[in-house]
Amino acid sequence: ATSFVVEGLKAEIEGKEILKGIDLEIKGGEIHAIMGPNGTGKSTLASALMGHPKYEVTDGKVTIDGEDVLEMGVDERALAGLFLAMQYPSEIAGVTNSDFLRSAINARRGEGNEISLIKFIRQMETKMKELEINPEFAHRYLNEGFSGGEKKRNEILQMMMLDPKIVILDEIDSGLDIDALRIVANGVNAMRSEERGFLIITHYQRLLNYITPDYVHVMMQGRIVKSGGPELAERLERDGYDWVKEELGIVD
Ligand code: ADP
Ligand code: MG
Ligand code: MG
Repeated sequence: ATSFVVEGLKAEIEGKEILKGIDLEIKGGEIHAIMGPNGTGKSTLASALMGHPKYEVTDGKVTIDGEDVLEMGVDERALAGLFLAMQYPSEIAGVTNSDFLRSAINARRGEGNEISLIKFIRQMETKMKELEINPEFAHRYLNEGFSGGEKKRNEILQMMMLDPKIVILDEIDSGLDIDALRIVANGVNAMRSEERGFLIITHYQRLLNYITPDYVHVMMQGRIVKSGGPELAERLERDGYDWVKEELGIVD
């Protein structure tokens, strides 16, 4: 079964330490949520796990099914089954959505095992319908001129087509209206399986009304300071983060 382990992960940006030792273990079938105030390093964690060059990992260990992730380049991480939907997806000029998707899928499947064009198109059309994405988006350049909600739905389309082992969603709910939120959540729930683990990063509890996590972690000042079940997210929604700070004697 899938196992994703983060141990003592530290990372810095431009010489400033942001992640101060993160420990996390995600098994296939589990949904973990990370919540926390703005600026605590949630996106830094997502970016460091995906190997974004701006973030320098200075200590710790990350493995997917026992393989050393920190030794892998960004592409190798994707091939190993890591998928990241970013808070701010980037545009890729000159590459259509469907071309991008098909090469990503084929890279993941490996040489000699490429998906047939017919099968690819059929799958893409089905998934696009499920996500209520306009069919013309297949032929648009990746993320170019997409609205916030369209970008997010498109990231979920990528996730569905790529069949990853570990899915990291960074504020996939930000800027979504309630209908788009429901569509995105349905997409995630449809992908729940014993073979796949999720890390859902969110500032607000709202998304977790639609996707029930098994574990909720609170991140503050670059550390996971508290873990619990779904009830922890509900308490944070109701009472904010101050009580956690008080309980732990965190001053900011
Ligand atoms: P969160 O996602 O929890 O809101 P971030 O990981 O985006 O937090 O940011 C954590 C800290 O790192 C903040 O103090 C932020 O200003 C800083 N930071 C994030 N990205 C950069 C960057 N590219 N350059 C410099 N500082 C950054
Ligand atoms: Mg933020
Ligand atoms: Mg963030």
